[in-house]
Amino acid sequence: MSENRPEKGSLTVVSGFSGAGKGTIMKALLSRYEGYALSVSMTTREPREGEVNGREYFFVSQEEFDRTIEEGGFLEYAKYVKHSYGTPRRYVEDQIAAGKDVLLEIEVQGAMQILKKMPEANTVFVTTPSAEELKKRLRGRGTETEESVAGRLARAVEETEFIPYYQHLLINDDLDEAVGKLHALIQDSKKRQAFVEQFREDLKNIG
Ligand code: 5GP
Repeated sequence: MSENRPEKGSLTVVSGFSGAGKGTIMKALLSRYEGYALSVSMTTREPREGEVNGREYFFVSQEEFDRTIEEGGFLEYAKYVKHSYGTPRRYVEDQIAAGKDVLLEIEVQGAMQILKKMPEANTVFVTTPSAEELKKRLRGRGTETEESVAGRLARAVEETEFIPYYQHLLINDDLDEAVGKLHALIQDSKKRQAFVEQFREDLKNIG
């Protein structure tokens, strides 16, 4: 890295089965380590109890969501079960430029869009140790109806097809361990990228 160039941040996409604990892992990562920024998505779904507009999501109407698509305001967007979700472009770009390691907690279709646009992004898929455990956690959450649990499990089956496109599989057995692993892999990948960039510059200058 050149001395006077501010170090650029990185982008990490974290996907995983609904109920696998992505949200908890991200919150713990942010509170344990410096330098991370979590992107807040827009969604057309209703807030769950305890969710705050602007913190978990920006809760918007379908009209506002569609307008943001037309304005090119999303880095990616997708439908999940019955609702739309999208990543506001501006925040992510600004935070990366400011040197932050930005985290996107998004589902698989969105992750594939990001990989196409930004192949240097880290991709991590979070799972429970077993399918049984996934069902237990979804039910235990207490915020989902049986219909919604069934919908999310059916969706999980479809999502397994995308796992091979992710660089990392993170098995969320022990929360602390999962958080430590996520931090390590993001930092490792940053070092690798910095090494490659430096190598490339050196190669160009070597004659
Ligand atoms: P939930 O309704 O449980 O909060 O989220 C449902 C799914 O949508 C989760 O898999 C979550 O990661 C995903 N999601 C949240 N925000 C976004 C987004 O901005 N883009 C995409 N593609 N998926 C998102």
